[in-house]
This record gives sequence, C-alpha cells and structure tokens, in this order.
Amino acid sequence: MSYSNLSEMNFDVSEEQKTFLEKVDRACESIRDYETKCYLEEKANDRIVPEFGKIGMLGCPISKKYGGMGYDILTYAFALERIGREGNSMRTFFSAHVSIGQMVLQNWADEDQKRQYLPITTGGKSIMAFALTEPGAGSDPASMTTKFEETGDSFVLKGKKHWVGNGTIAKVLTTYAKGPDGKISAFIVDTDSKGFRAEEMKDKIGLLSIKNAEISFENCIIPKKNLLGTKGKGLSIAYSALIDGRLSVAAGAVGVMNDCLEESIKYSQKREQHGSALAKKQLIQEHLSSMIVNIESSRWLIYRTAMARQNLQDYVEGLKEKDVHWQERLNRKDKEYLLLRNRADRLAAIAKLHASNAAFDCANRAVQIFGSFAYQKTNRVARHFLDSRAIIIYEGANEVLKLKIASLELGDKYQAY
Ligand SMILES: Cc1cc2nc3c(=O)[nH]c(=O)nc-3n(C[C@H](O)[C@H](O)[C@H](O)COP(=O)(O)OP(=O)(O)OC[C@H]3O[C@@H](n4cnc5c(N)ncnc54)[C@H](O)[C@@H]3O)c2cc1C
Repeated sequence: MSYSNLSEMNFDVSEEQKTFLEKVDRACESIRDYETKCYLEEKANDRIVPEFGKIGMLGCPISKKYGGMGYDILTYAFALERIGREGNSMRTFFSAHVSIGQMVLQNWADEDQKRQYLPITTGGKSIMAFALTEPGAGSDPASMTTKFEETGDSFVLKGKKHWVGNGTIAKVLTTYAKGPDGKISAFIVDTDSKGFRAEEMKDKIGLLSIKNAEISFENCIIPKKNLLGTKGKGLSIAYSALIDGRLSVAAGAVGVMNDCLEESIKYSQKREQHGSALAKKQLIQEHLSSMIVNIESSRWLIYRTAMARQNLQDYVEGLKEKDVHWQERLNRKDKEYLLLRNRADRLAAIAKLHASNAAFDCANRAVQIFGSFAYQKTNRVARHFLDSRAIIIYEGANEVLKLKIASLELGDKYQAY
C-alpha cells in the first residue's frame, strides 16, 4: 500500500514518516495470517509486541526522550488506520497500550513517573491498559464505586473494573477511584501490586485476538508517588484520555472500511450470478458507493481531529516547559487550554460517532455482498462485522456521544445526561 497519495493531500507526510508508515504496512502484512489464526483460535496475538516493537510502533507518538518515536498525532492516526485494516481486534491492542495507556502518562505524569514507566512500555517490556469502567458505572463513570484511602505512604484501592483491554497481560495500568471526599483521583498501578487480580472475560462475540479483563482491587496497595496528576482531578484525566481513545477508534475504523471495500470489490468482480459479475449490478454498486462515501467522510473528520489534538498537545507541552506549576494552571481553567481541549474533544466525539457507525455499515454491506460466504468467521469481512459492533459501544457509547456533541453546542444548562 502506498502512502504517497497522503502527501498529495497536503497532509505533510515527510519522507521519514512515509518510511515509518511503510514499515507499519509491512509489519501488518507479515502477521496477517497469524492474526487470523489467533482470532479463530480465540487466543491473544503474541506476535504484535515483537513485530511492532521492532519498528517503534509501541511508542509511536511518545517522546524520543522516553524511548518513543516522537511522531505527531496525525502520523499515529495514519498508522492506526493501516492497522485497522487488520481488524479492530489488533487495533484495540494499540489503543489500550498507546492511546489510553502511554499517552495518559505522557500527558499527565510527573517527570519521575514518566522516566519509570514510559521507557519500559515503549520498548514493549511492559504492556499498558486503562481501567475506568465498572459493572455499575459505564457511560457514567462519575458514579463509580471503586474507593481509595490513604495510609502512611500508600493508597489502598478497593473495587472492581471490567472490560479492561490488555488487562490480562498489562504490567502497568491507570485506574480511577473515589476518595473519602467523593472526588475521583487517577493512579498508576503496577499489576504485581499486592491485592491486584485480573481475570479474563470469556464468551465475547468479537475482538477475539485481544483479551479483556475483569480487575479486582482487593485492598490493593500502591505507593503515594503513583498518584497521577492532581488529587481529585482523576475524571478530567480520564476524559482527556478518551479524546485519544476516540481518535484511535475512528482512525482504525477507516482501515476497517478500506479492507471491507477492497474485499468487496475483488469478490464482486469475480462472483457471477444471473449471467454477469455482481459488480455490474446496480444494487451492488450502491453498496460500494456507500462504502466509499463513508470512507472519505470519516477520513477528513479524523485528520481534522488529529490536528486539533496536536494543537492541544503543543500548547500543553509549551506550558510544561515554561511553568513547573502547569497542572495547577490548567486546573484553574486556563482559557486557551479550555478552548483547545473543547475543540479536540468535540471533534473526537464527532469522528468516533461517525466513523464507528460508518464502519459497522460498511462491514454489514460487505457481508451482504459476500452472501453466505461471509457467514463464517473464516471470512475477513465477517470478522470486521463482528468486531465493528464493539466500537459503537466502547470509548463512549454512540448515544452518549450524540448527547455530548449536542450539549457542547447548547451549553451545560441543556446537558441531557
Ligand atoms: C470490547 C470492549 C472493550 C472495552 N475496553 C475498555 C477498556 O479498555 N477500559 C475501560 O475502562 N472500559 C472498557 N470498555 C467499557 C466501555 O467503555 C463501556 O462498555 C461503555 O462506556 C458503555 O458502558 P456500559 O457498557 O456499562 O453501558 P451503559 O452505560 O449501561 O449503557 C447502555 C446503553 O444505554 C445508553 N445510554 C447510557 N446513558 C444514556 C443516556 N444518558 N441517554 C441515552 N442513552 C444512554 C448507552 O449509549 C448504551 O447504548 C470496553 C467495552 C467493550 C464492550
């Protein structure tokens, strides 16, 4: 697959970035068959870490100072788009490890925490996860019941999280818990901490080559130095992570759609019924044109979101260099920060809402074109269909995103949730 067409769109992909994206392409090709095997056997793909570690994808947007590649968010989105062609299952690994894993540390951790955790994760020695959702608190994380208490130089966490992507293999994760004052704080947790337990969630209907875990904090003890960001500001950290999570889902969805389109074109040109190729039938062409419209419309939303997210990052990184009290400044509602964050938040919600629905629609149309041949998981578009159901639910269920988009326009007074 060539990326030269992206440069022609003035998205400024340098030669170095192009070379990196071509490496991502080759890594995807090299484990395509193994990914299929893992998916069908419902086992975690253990070749993702070595194959993508070699080319730096495990820390693509993370600063070189911490062992990452230091690429901008748009380049990372292009890479996720390519990985998405291999399926949401494989792309979800990167979202959990990088987008809502490492990027949360890059954005909010202090220097010591970044030095302790980022290099081991960019090198792939340690995999990351994000544990926010609870059985009783999904779309409304503010209602979480996981609690923390302080004792001497430790925090003690008590509660349950579920559906945590990479949760069975992660060595480090961020989690969120309520203090005695009812305010939520964020924490970095080593999964070998006393009182930590992760159990695989079984019987999923898709995303079969990535594992999700139910996590229990049974008086789990973590050191005080593992508080992430300012105490009581955990929900804001979680919501900022979801901007990156939504962007990654949306970018991966474009890959899914591209794969569905390519498979559908090849199949419909080959398969003949009623005396001619399916590709000649007008109703089949209607499916194909809908896919193309979905791809193009999603793509522009994603690239725009990536740029807005980059502007936010540049502003915060600039503040970090100038002001050691940057977190306090943001907590005091720095106007420029709020403007940039709201813009990235809004665009990420729109991109995720649109691209996830579009991917599910594309996969559904592709299954229809293949007919009975796509009614088995051995078929690529069948797997896209199963996996694309999840992306309408996670990283903010689409109904909730619609409410968020409307309330950002209407103002808090009209917030419907
Ligand atoms: C495969 C998978 C992977 C996941 N990975 C992670 C992970 O890595 N880390 C993590 O923390 N979580 C993860 N999640 C959890 C995911 O973020 C939640 O499932 C999601 O936020 C929705 O929460 P819920 O499932 O509890 O549904 P609920 O919140 O109970 O919602 C159920 C339905 O009601 C709708 N709804 C809710 N509130 C409103 C409202 N006010 N108005 C109208 N409709 C509403 C929702 O849109 C949804 O359709 C994952 C989930 C899945 C399925």
